[in-house]
Amino acid sequence: MTTEASPRPSAAYDELASLLRTAATLTSIRATLSWDQETVMPPRGGSFRAEEIALVSTLEHERLTDPRIGELLAACESDRGLCSNEAIAADLREIRRDFERATKLPTELVAEIARTSSEALEVWKEARQRSDFALFRPWLEKQFRLAADKARCYGIPEGGELYDPLLDEYEPGASAREIEGIFGPLRAALAPFLAEILAAPRAIDPSPRALRLPLARQREFSRFVAERIGFDFRAGRLDESTHPFTEGLAPGDTRITSRFSEDHATDALGSTLHEAGHALYEQGLPKDLHHGLPLSQAIGLGIHESQSRMWENQVGRSRPFWSWALPEAKRFFGPALEPLSVDQIYASVNQVRPSLIRVEADETTYNLHVMLRFDVERAMVRGDLRVADLPAVWNERMRGDLGQEVPDDRSGCLQDIHWAGGAIGYFPTYTLGTLYAAQFWEAIRQAIPDLDEHLARGEFGALLSWLRENIHAHGRRWRAGELCLRLTGRPLGHGPMLRHLGTKLRPIYGI
Ligand code: ZN
Repeated sequence: MTTEASPRPSAAYDELASLLRTAATLTSIRATLSWDQETVMPPRGGSFRAEEIALVSTLEHERLTDPRIGELLAACESDRGLCSNEAIAADLREIRRDFERATKLPTELVAEIARTSSEALEVWKEARQRSDFALFRPWLEKQFRLAADKARCYGIPEGGELYDPLLDEYEPGASAREIEGIFGPLRAALAPFLAEILAAPRAIDPSPRALRLPLARQREFSRFVAERIGFDFRAGRLDESTHPFTEGLAPGDTRITSRFSEDHATDALGSTLHEAGHALYEQGLPKDLHHGLPLSQAIGLGIHESQSRMWENQVGRSRPFWSWALPEAKRFFGPALEPLSVDQIYASVNQVRPSLIRVEADETTYNLHVMLRFDVERAMVRGDLRVADLPAVWNERMRGDLGQEVPDDRSGCLQDIHWAGGAIGYFPTYTLGTLYAAQFWEAIRQAIPDLDEHLARGEFGALLSWLRENIHAHGRRWRAGELCLRLTGRPLGHGPMLRHLGTKLRPIYGI
């Protein structure tokens, strides 16, 4: 962070920062409760946990909408000296955005959404396990009803739709129409590429995927790799959960989870790299300096996802990475891996296989999973699709888009945690992040011409420093689109992602 952002230049700004720090402390308490619910809480703790989360959310919302924040904000905005500092002006712009949004929501609705999300999560876990959509359906209906209520409170932007204010929560400034404008051409470009790969004569050696590796060793190896790429375990933890996630709980406390199974060792490593990528962003935000202020927070979920996807895909599915990681893996796993070559594992982690589960999807088909979710959640928010009809529509799309027959809702519309937890409007950020990652990667390769040699030596410092300096250190100083322009000179597009896939997969498949 540059020093211009650090001084406390006015009494009003000081008091504003102090109020926001208190609200952020409540946010941190709520996040700790959620983390606990997702990782170690026993099932019967669910209903009281919902009460706890609803109460903390209420207190948090009361703090965030305190009229004193409005007064101080207005005072700061009219202080020309203060606003001449670019970083502080950006900070005030984002505080204004947050305040305007928060004050549009009644506290009762915020509490109701928090309580429902916590309760629905427990029902979803059971419904998913039993593949019982009927059990989850009333909760899903309630979540979409509450989301629509929330969107109405925020208000529909001119020329926009009810989905927009929901999306805006995760990707500030984005609209459904814009997403459509990005997804449409991407889909059109992906379809022939995918067809070409699926028709390729060369088959990928299945032996690496058939390996069964002990869970304890997998956990140790994941931890080793996370630490090696820069995850600071003095300021973080790695645990396990059904749905891997990252929670930046507080300054000095970033938690990630992964999931392990004996026969999917490389998936587990990919999942750890993904979450560690999120965590490196959280650990790189200047939280000690600006806790509670936008300058210490992530820009949005698209950029957050760009960090996780980059470590998972651009790094973790590259040949240089595996030329370092395979010998290391052999140290951990012993004779089981001895016969394996870098070529075999590299081809294996890049195998394109249309499948049912988003989080297990390869890089080429992954975005088709996201597009499906964007289309159906948008239709449900608009009221064009009834929740009751979701399984049928989902299964139809899986057949059409990915050629997959969905055997049960557990492998279909019940697979993701997001809607249960109230995250409606979130899914598009996965594809935005994937596209940002590929576009940033081209800029990084220019900035660090010998990047491959670094990766092949297991040295990730130069890459992490670039990310820290150019992205992490700035918090919400720029919006995602502006950051993209600054770093790459172009608005977001799908060209770099297609180049990334083509350059890698064409030689692997011999096409
Ligand atoms: Zn992610």
